[in-house]
Amino acid sequence: GKALGRGHIRRFETHMATQAVRQLELERDLRSALINQQFRLVYQPQIALSTQKLIGFEALLRWHHPERGEIRPCDFIPFAEQTGIICAIGEWALDQAIAELSYWDQSGLPLVPVSVNVSALQLEIPSFADSVIERLNLLPVHLRSNIALELTESTLMQNQALESIQALCAADIPLYMDDFGTGYSNLSIISQLGLSKLKFDRSLIQNVPNNNAHQKVCSALLDLAGALELEVIAEGVETPEEAQWLLEQGVLYAQGYWFCHPLESAQVVHYLKEHQP
Ligand code: C2E
Ligand code: CA
Ligand code: CA
Ligand code: CA
Repeated sequence: GKALGRGHIRRFETHMATQAVRQLELERDLRSALINQQFRLVYQPQIALSTQKLIGFEALLRWHHPERGEIRPCDFIPFAEQTGIICAIGEWALDQAIAELSYWDQSGLPLVPVSVNVSALQLEIPSFADSVIERLNLLPVHLRSNIALELTESTLMQNQALESIQALCAADIPLYMDDFGTGYSNLSIISQLGLSKLKFDRSLIQNVPNNNAHQKVCSALLDLAGALELEVIAEGVETPEEAQWLLEQGVLYAQGYWFCHPLESAQVVHYLKEHQP
């Protein structure tokens, strides 16, 4: 009884210590990842459903860890948010997307908007909006409106976040509401943000042609988007049936494995040559 209990506690403590060490390692590794250029962006095409033409790219973060290989964003972004490192990573991602967009443009490739994910934490930094606007002002005028920001609904709770969004909107930066349809939506706030697009979460789209409940929720949210005069990008479209159903509902844009997986930046160059927007 007692001996077993103590053994159990010891194992538990060892487990806790191992966890703590792993977290410290992850924090150290995330910090050095920025310095050692282990991050890169991949770009997923966004498509007009009626013409199948390219309308933009979403920039998605990738981390190549020297020992552990590729680590998925869902395995490090929550931790990067807890520790605040996400702010530095987010700045890097914005700069990188701007640099790659400029490079494609200078190479004579067709120009389409690139949307960059912004963490809730970044919006809570009072200087965030100004720093984004400053960066964009360094760009040639024709490129400026081609960087969009993807925001999530959880960001809408804080006053500072709202102020940041208002400043970004006043500077005419296209703003997309990400993961729409998950969790709590403050519709009165959403309607006042000056958003340009709503991104419908993958969970709403998944299997929608065969799921009556999903169809009802999806249709209701589409009516809402229409009432707010916001264009919709459906995320996570994996089948032609899903694409067809969305097209029939009047959804303009989509993104998902059915159209294209996220592309390495070198692949984007070929993609842009073959898929003129
Ligand atoms: P998200 O912003 O909702 O991005 C869409 C995710 O869905 C991406 O996962 C994308 O690869 C994946 N996806 C696209 N099409 C399909 C599909 O047809 N089926 C399925 N099952 N998945 C699809 P990824 O790249 O692993 O990113 C996961 C999340 O990590 C993102 O979700 C976003 O919340 C976060 N993230 C990625 N990059 C950044 C970044 O630069 N900054 C911040 N703050 N968050 C980022
Ligand atoms: Ca996103
Ligand atoms: Ca999303
Ligand atoms: Ca998501």
